[in-house]
Amino acid sequence: MTVLTGWGRTSPSRATVVEPASADQLSEVVRTSPHVIARGLGRSYGDPAQNSGGTVIGSGHLSSIGPPGPVMDLGAGVSLDELLRVCVPAGWFVPVTPGTRFVTMGGAFAADIHGKNHHRDGTFSRHVQDITIMLADGQVRTVAAGDPLFEATAGGMGLTGFIVSMRLKMRPIQTSRILVNTVRTNDLDTLLATMLEADVHSSYSVAWVDTLATGANLGRAVITTGEHAAVEDLPDRLRERPLEYSPKQFAGTPAWMPNWALNRVSVAAFNELWYRKAPRHREGQIQSIPAFFHPLDGVRDWNRIYGDRGFLQYQFVVAETEVVRHALQKVSAARCPVFLAVLKRFGPSNAAPLSFPMSGWTLTLDIPTSVPDLSGLLDELDEEIVAAGGRLYLAKDSRMHPQHLPRMYPDLEAFRAVREQVDPGRVWRSDQSQRLGI
Ligand SMILES: Cc1cc2nc3c(=O)[nH]c(=O)nc-3n(C[C@H](O)[C@H](O)[C@H](O)COP(=O)(O)OP(=O)(O)OC[C@H]3O[C@@H](n4cnc5c(N)ncnc54)[C@H](O)[C@@H]3O)c2cc1C
Repeated sequence: MTVLTGWGRTSPSRATVVEPASADQLSEVVRTSPHVIARGLGRSYGDPAQNSGGTVIGSGHLSSIGPPGPVMDLGAGVSLDELLRVCVPAGWFVPVTPGTRFVTMGGAFAADIHGKNHHRDGTFSRHVQDITIMLADGQVRTVAAGDPLFEATAGGMGLTGFIVSMRLKMRPIQTSRILVNTVRTNDLDTLLATMLEADVHSSYSVAWVDTLATGANLGRAVITTGEHAAVEDLPDRLRERPLEYSPKQFAGTPAWMPNWALNRVSVAAFNELWYRKAPRHREGQIQSIPAFFHPLDGVRDWNRIYGDRGFLQYQFVVAETEVVRHALQKVSAARCPVFLAVLKRFGPSNAAPLSFPMSGWTLTLDIPTSVPDLSGLLDELDEEIVAAGGRLYLAKDSRMHPQHLPRMYPDLEAFRAVREQVDPGRVWRSDQSQRLGI
């Protein structure tokens, strides 16, 4: 039995972890274990890749990467890190990337992840031609986009079966660089207006928000937008190797970080520095893929800076700007030491019943669990979000109450109907599915 947690390092539970070496072994484990769940690289924040007292199946053996091209055949255990090292030098990029390259293809599909380009390109699953999935009886099926099993599996958090492989449609790129524009805004209204405007013109956009700013400065932020650079955008020294890709990772965070290292004072100082360091307005800066898309990956095990009590990531989407304002006011008033707060606009939702994104604003907050009365604060926010027709992201959730789920995900019954067909005995289950009664 192994103790597992998500990236937030909260809610540990014990499970038998199995790493099958072949498809036959995978099928044997699925058929003989009473309760199973898949696990990729454990980058979801809460408990969806845990299975207390049951079996957790790793996808490491599903590591095959087909030849780079417009559609790539990928094993579900392939990490984005591995994929980018193969596809970028060949002139191809993934259609959607999250803020870390340490996720697997299976985990990306099961959470139906989004990136900084959701307003343009939608979620990950919209770029997958088909998936091959092992069902509870050990049978393997290949299903294409539009099939109810495909849609239920996109965002279905591993509860329909074990994704074995997929065919992913790729995006051609001329260079491995991004042309980045940066702008600083002093208050929330300017931030929202600038982001709306930015999304009209930009492929990628995101804002870092200073959650400790108050009063007239509430919601002050640094907005970055980006485009894939063409060869002629590069300075001479980079033109010789336009597709060079060499991500680096520095020494990790020590395991013994104290729980108080991130506090109001240290985070306020960091936020001030971060805001002041950003240019008021800068256009056309050339950045690498890791710097623009995956800056946090630069430091190994950065999740340890929160100490052994861990942290949670609270991410919601809501159409109304007033809910975003209120959330920032509450977090600011509670003086929560949040140094990672990200605001982004989503485009419309898709046909997958448990896919998270929908038109509106999504705010993401990393909060240490040591904040006094954090549950009370977040419970109140949950109520507001539900009342406004919004929802929380299951890949980040570790604490929401089950009664909110059907209102947040009105197509939950469509998901359950597919699950009933493919897994009537509920072989697939996770700590999260048990906690939320999915
Ligand atoms: C620093 C950081 C930044 C992030 N940024 C973003 C972001 O910008 N956008 C975004 O959408 N998400 C983001 N995430 C969340 C992350 O993309 C998702 O949680 C993703 O699911 C993690 O993939 P994983 O391989 O680690 O899966 P795990 O965390 O191991 O598992 C996640 C879920 O996928 C299921 N699963 C995994 N593999 C399979 C499989 N082969 N078959 C069936 N089900 C499977 C598991 O059962 C579980 O329910 C971020 C996470 C971190 C740590």
